Amino acid sequence: MSDSALFPSFARADLAFERGEGVWLETASGERYLDMMGGIAVNSLGHCHPHLVAALTEQAAKLWHVSNVFAAPHQEKLARRLTETSFADRVFFTNSGAEALECAIKTARRRQFHEGRPERYRLITFEGAFHGRTLATIAAGGQEKYIEGFGPKVDGFDKVDGFDEEKVLAAIGPETAGILIEPIQGEGGIRPVPRAFLAFLRKVCDEQGLSLVFDEVQCGMGRTGRLWAYELSGVEPDILASAKGIGGGFPLGACLATEAAAAGMTPGTHGTTYGGGLLAMAAGNAVLDVILEPDFLEKVRDRGLRLKQKLAAVVDLHPGLFSEVRGEGLMLGLVCRRSPAEVVAAMREQKLLTVGAGGNVVRFLPALVVSDAEIDEAVARTEAAARSLLQAEKGAAA
Ligand SMILES: *Cc1c(COP(=O)(O)O)cnc(C)c1O
Repeated sequence: MSDSALFPSFARADLAFERGEGVWLETASGERYLDMMGGIAVNSLGHCHPHLVAALTEQAAKLWHVSNVFAAPHQEKLARRLTETSFADRVFFTNSGAEALECAIKTARRRQFHEGRPERYRLITFEGAFHGRTLATIAAGGQEKYIEGFGPKVDGFDKVDGFDEEKVLAAIGPETAGILIEPIQGEGGIRPVPRAFLAFLRKVCDEQGLSLVFDEVQCGMGRTGRLWAYELSGVEPDILASAKGIGGGFPLGACLATEAAAAGMTPGTHGTTYGGGLLAMAAGNAVLDVILEPDFLEKVRDRGLRLKQKLAAVVDLHPGLFSEVRGEGLMLGLVCRRSPAEVVAAMREQKLLTVGAGGNVVRFLPALVVSDAEIDEAVARTEAAARSLLQAEKGAAA
């Protein structure tokens, strides 16, 4: 890889794919891999879903880009569908998750400014969070490994350890504008936030005039078997960042907000060149067409339960290797008793694709359309990977 023309910033596996269909990826030489990571929760409808391919190719022949200085009926349509199916009244479209978070952070700060409290700009954040790789979002995530060497940390984020009510109250000060949290931490290791804690955050925000901001970039858009992960708790935010699965593989993000929270984002306060482009809107509308079909989300819940139960059986068989399966719907984490990189590598040997996370977790984030047979095949390959890891150890010990 040393002769690569690319930045060395990714630790890439030596494996390239040329085509894909559903949950299957194929190399140039025709080797097929079972994809249970779905581009890290991006390929929500699998690879090359016919409805998405048709929507994108139809739009590609009509019009790709017009400036945001013009009226945007294509954006209005998707925004209307998102607000009708969520807490929100207003939507700003972006090209990525980090940009959706940047918009969410600016919206939370601007709301306080707009309401006459310009001194309030800080956000409470949480240990184990991940919000993206821009200068503001690495500061919000608060992980030293992403911050180191990039100059002064962007000011305005106060990290709290654990989902601890007392610590949150202690961290709130006269400059606090809001609270930013993933309802289920993704990169942090598929860690669901307790419902009671989210309800507590809502109450604190209401009492103190703060914005509650949810990062649903990974856990939203049907991933948990609900359209929005916050539906699991019944706690609604004021501002929400979405991305990853919302475009089904086309770069698309969105910042959703209530009318009150977005009121300060007056003309000229925020902008984007590419955000809300016609191809992205075609992809986003096509993804929603499928996810909003009657019974679709119920099927996601059934598939999630099947995968979770079968992985739990693998944990029972190999308690020395695994300790737990956790998560909701098709956002599941297999907690390992060793480095997840080793387990992911052993799975790749079985032509099964998964992705690691914090807390020794291997993540399963397959396309929401994965079939029962494909789930069973993924579990069989997980079993085979576990056996090969144990075999290799026995061999080494002998
Ligand atoms: C991936 C992710 C982001 C960043 O999204 P990008 O599209 O990579 O900028 C932000 N928040 C969460 C929870 C994520 O999983």
